Amino acid sequence: MSIIQNITQMKNQIARAAEKAGRDVNDIRLIAVSKTVNAARVQEAVDAGICDLGENRVQELMDKYPLVEGARWHLIGHLQTNKVKYIVGKVALVHSLDRWSLALELDKRAREAGVVIPVLVQVNVAGEETKFGLAVPEVRDFVTEAAALTGISIEGLMTIAPLVENPEEVRPVFRELKRISEGLKDIPGVRMEQLSMGMSNDFAVAIEEGATMIRIGTAIFGSRK
Ligand SMILES: *Cc1c(COP(=O)(O)O)cnc(C)c1O
Repeated sequence: MSIIQNITQMKNQIARAAEKAGRDVNDIRLIAVSKTVNAARVQEAVDAGICDLGENRVQELMDKYPLVEGARWHLIGHLQTNKVKYIVGKVALVHSLDRWSLALELDKRAREAGVVIPVLVQVNVAGEETKFGLAVPEVRDFVTEAAALTGISIEGLMTIAPLVENPEEVRPVFRELKRISEGLKDIPGVRMEQLSMGMSNDFAVAIEEGATMIRIGTAIFGSRK
């Protein structure tokens, strides 16, 4: 299938999942994950109505940034502190704030540039050793302290669920992220309106559990080599 057909099908599936959950489809943002996809194909997706693109590596984002027109960029992968300087002013949202040193660097670079960088705090809900993200018990203190940094604005949480065959298996992971976010809404200066969760294999379940952003690569661009 073509990218355009994939996007049409994806939008239909998002609408169906939203309806099933009794949610407004406009509250769910589709982020097309364009890692490993060349700029021409990414532009095809944007021309077909994609407004948000996600990359997990800074270098790749930087390479495509000047070549693709008409979309917002999201940094969804692990971010090295020495790369922060390259993305300030280019990225609409950093989904992967996962440690204090990164919070400080984002804050510093943002203030130097006179901007505020919107971020999501990445939580390793399932406690997988191979994944980045804060452990669940660390989240509240982290968010409380990060909320005092004026260069970043905390918009919500992000998680990557374990890769499973049946997406029902990760429903508790999504439900837990939502529960954690509800419990943080009393912290002053924190918005907690966004939940970035759900990928090609599990987005429908994530939407049912409250995702406001889903990150879709394979189902739009095909499988990566
Ligand atoms: C690659 C990636 C995705 C998209 O994965 P698909 O299974 O191809 O939809 C989503 N989120 C992150 C953080 C990724 O690195």
